[in-house]
Amino acid sequence: MTRGLPKIDVEGLKSFIDEEKIENLIAKKENDKGKIREIIAKSLAKNRLELEEMAALLNAEDPDLVAEIKEGARELKRRIYGNRIVLFAPLYVGNDCINNCSYCGFRASNLELVRRTLSLKELEKEVRTLESRGHKRLILVYGEHPRYDADFIYETTRKVYETKEGKGEIRRVNINAAPFDVEGFKKIKSAGIGTFQVFQETYHQKTYASVHPSGLKSNYLWRLFAFDRAMEAGIDDVGMGALIGLYNHKFEALAMLQHTIHLEEKFGVGPHTISFPRIEPAIGTKFADRPPYQASDEDFMKMIAVIRLAVPYTGMILTAREPVALRNEAISYGVSQIDAGSDIGVGAYAKEDEVESAKKSQFVLSDNRSLDDVIGQLCEHGFLPSFCTGCYRLGRTGEHFMEFAIPGFVKKFCTPNAILTLTEYLLDYASPETKEKGLKRIKEELADIPQTNPIKQQLLEKLSEVENGKRDLFF
Ligand code: SAM
Ligand code: SF4
Repeated sequence: MTRGLPKIDVEGLKSFIDEEKIENLIAKKENDKGKIREIIAKSLAKNRLELEEMAALLNAEDPDLVAEIKEGARELKRRIYGNRIVLFAPLYVGNDCINNCSYCGFRASNLELVRRTLSLKELEKEVRTLESRGHKRLILVYGEHPRYDADFIYETTRKVYETKEGKGEIRRVNINAAPFDVEGFKKIKSAGIGTFQVFQETYHQKTYASVHPSGLKSNYLWRLFAFDRAMEAGIDDVGMGALIGLYNHKFEALAMLQHTIHLEEKFGVGPHTISFPRIEPAIGTKFADRPPYQASDEDFMKMIAVIRLAVPYTGMILTAREPVALRNEAISYGVSQIDAGSDIGVGAYAKEDEVESAKKSQFVLSDNRSLDDVIGQLCEHGFLPSFCTGCYRLGRTGEHFMEFAIPGFVKKFCTPNAILTLTEYLLDYASPETKEKGLKRIKEELADIPQTNPIKQQLLEKLSEVENGKRDLFF
C-alpha cells in the first residue's frame, strides 16, 4: 500500500543481532599489539572485518595502539578514497510525527514544537534557495505520519528534481524517512531516489523499547528488517545508522557490523553509507540534554576510525550536529560525506515564515558555517569538495563499493568528477576568497595526475567546456 501508513507485518522474523555475543565481546580488554596490527593490515588489504576483530579494535585502550588505529584509518582513506569529500544539504519537508521517540524534538507529545509541512510550492522555494547557493545533492527528511506516505515522498522527490534555478539543479535526492513495506519502497524508488536512510537508533532491544514507547516505531523488528524490504523492492543504496547516546557506542558499532554482514549474506551487498549521529539538545526534550550513554569526543573519534577499518567499502556520513574541529578530524579518518550550510527547521532556507527555525527544528546544530565557508576551509585543508553524482546518473549504484573494489576507479571517475563539480561551484556561486582557494586546490589535484594518463587530456577538455558555460559534465 502506498497511501497512508504501511501495515506492519513481522511474522516469522527473528532478530539477527546477537546481543549476548556482542555484550561478551565488548566486555573484553585488548592490548595485544601484534593482534591489533594484524587486524589493521587485514583492513588495509581491503577486507571487511569480522565482529571479533572490530571488537578488538574498539577494546584497545593503550594510547599508542589507539594512535595506530587512527593512523590505519587515515592510511585506508588516503589509499582508497583520496582527498574527496562529498557535500550535501538536509531539507526537512515536514515535522509532524505520530511517534514518541524520547530523544527527538518532533515527537508527538512535544507541545513546544511548531508543526509544519511544506506545500509543494514552499518546497520549491526551499529547493530554489539551496540551488542558488550551489547545492546539488539533498537529503529530504520527514517525521513519521500518515500524510508522509510513499506517494507523498514520491511527489516531493519529483518536485525537487523538477525545480531548477538559473544554472542550478538538484542531481541526487536521498531520503531519511520512516521505513515502508515493499510496495511503498517500490513507489519511492520509482521517483529516482539515491539512498534511503533508516537509522535503527539503538540495536539493543530493551533500550529500543524504552525510548520508543508508542507509535509504529516501537516495533523493533519492523525497523530492523527495513533494508531487507527496501532491497527486495530494488533499492540497492541503503543508509544505516545508530543514534549514539542511547546505549553503549561499542555495542551499536558492532551491531551495525552484524547488520552489514546480514545484508551481505542475504543480498550480496552491504549498506551504501553508515551514520553515527550523537544526540544533540532538542527543543522541549529533556532526555536529549543528558543522554544516558553519550560517547565522549575521544571515544567517538576512535569509534569513527574503527568503523572505517571494519567496513572499508562504505561511505561514512558525519552531519553538522558535530562541531567544526571534530568534523575536520573525522574527515581525515575517512568520513566521506558531510552536510554544509544546513538549516534543519522546516521551511528555514527560504525564511518565508514568521516562526524562527529553532522552534520547528528536530535538534540543535553545532556547525553553522555557510556552504561557501565550508568549501573554502576544506580546500585550505587540502581536501577536495565534490558534488559528484556521476555514478547515480549513469546507473552505477553502490558507488562507494566500486570506489573501493575496482582498482583505479577513484582516479578514473571520482577525482575528475570532483574537480568538474567543484569548478562549476567556483564559477557559479563562490565568494572571491573561496574561488581563489578552490582554484589553487584544483591546480594541485591536476598536477597530481600524470601527463601520460589519458584521463588528464579528457578532463582538461571537459574543464574548458565548463569554463565556457557547459554544465553537468561527468565521467
Ligand atoms: N522520522 C523518521 C525516523 O525516525 O526514521 C525520519 C528520521 S528522523 C527525522 C532523522 C534522525 O534524526 C533519526 O533517525 C534520529 O537518529 C535522529 N535524531 C532524532 N533526534 C535527535 C537528536 N536529538 N539529536 C540528534 N539526532 C537526532
Ligand atoms: Fe518522529 Fe523520527 Fe523524531 Fe521519532 S525520530 S519522533 S519517528 S521524527
